[in-house]
Amino acid sequence: MFKAVWLEQVDGATKASVCQLNDDALGEGEVTVDVQWSTLNYKDALAITGRSPVVRRFPLVPGIDLAGTVVDCNNQDFVVGQTVVLNGWGHGESLPGGLAAKARVPAKHLTALPAPLTTRQAMSIGTAGYTAALCVQALESAGVMPEQGEVLVTGANGGVGGFAIALLAQRGYRVVASTGRPEESARLTALGASRVITRETLASAGKPLQKELWSGVVDSVGSHTLANACAQTQYGGAVAACGLAQGMDFPATVAPFILRGVRLLGVDSVMAPAPVRDSAWKRLADCLSATVIDAMTAEISLDAVPAAALDLLAGRVAGRLLVRTN
Ligand code: NDP
Repeated sequence: MFKAVWLEQVDGATKASVCQLNDDALGEGEVTVDVQWSTLNYKDALAITGRSPVVRRFPLVPGIDLAGTVVDCNNQDFVVGQTVVLNGWGHGESLPGGLAAKARVPAKHLTALPAPLTTRQAMSIGTAGYTAALCVQALESAGVMPEQGEVLVTGANGGVGGFAIALLAQRGYRVVASTGRPEESARLTALGASRVITRETLASAGKPLQKELWSGVVDSVGSHTLANACAQTQYGGAVAACGLAQGMDFPATVAPFILRGVRLLGVDSVMAPAPVRDSAWKRLADCLSATVIDAMTAEISLDAVPAAALDLLAGRVAGRLLVRTN
């Protein structure tokens, strides 16, 4: 038996409970993991509350992230006792997820946790930090260098934004943080932002081409914010787009792309190939200090997850929620 968050559909509504499951509820795969930590992402909160059709198969254990220790393995890439992390691949959507004390998963969905990260730190980082690392990798691959000018990070007080600031600053970029919560500016500068701007400057419709301000952008907000960020990017610069906190729309023109050669780089964490994940996790292990990782997180138990999901959607949660699974 193992403890888990369990989602069922009752009379067309999603019902979340925390219960003991037997091993029949485990998924299919070559590797069984003693899950020590998971995390509550915005997507998980949507799944648990049923606010959005994230879950494609009921009943299901939710949770797009997990970290733990291999306890059984029929695959040569992993050994018993090894620490691993899993992000995405459809877990918590169509496959059993990480909000449980135990998981059985395909080996190809696991990433070996690079030293010195602990499983707890891996879930403090979670999909948010891993996605931030993918965004930074995308900008670097597009040739955005620290000496070319300031890099804008939108949604700065969110999980992706916070980790993007820390990773960019550590690589020597001058980071400008855009936020709707300027009262959190001290936290953003402690993470590495060189200055903070208010998100209202980007939030509504702007001109197709604006003053060239940024050599690169990490955008987790979408909508007008992404359109304005593209319009403010320097000739030849790049914008990594990963989120839709403001909206899924993209009310822009092609002007920045065809007149300034700006590149728009889409970033997806769910189905990113293994080599890309490995290098993102290596970057996180090499670049983030324990102080930065701990500063991002509050810890809750598995029992607290259903209520925390409601709080998260109501905007009552600051920072990231780390879930102790056993
Ligand atoms: P959080 O909820 O932690 O942060 C989102 C931040 O966006 C908020 O903290 C806020 O920052 C800002 N924000 C919220 N609402 C608005 C608004 N209406 N207008 C402008 N800014 C707003 O989420 P995450 O950081 O974990 O994720 C950010 C986005 O990235 C989400 O849309 C998520 O779905 C997406 N995502 C995508 C992934 C992928 O694979 N592509 C993976 C992970 C996340 P502030 O208070 O500083 O203004």
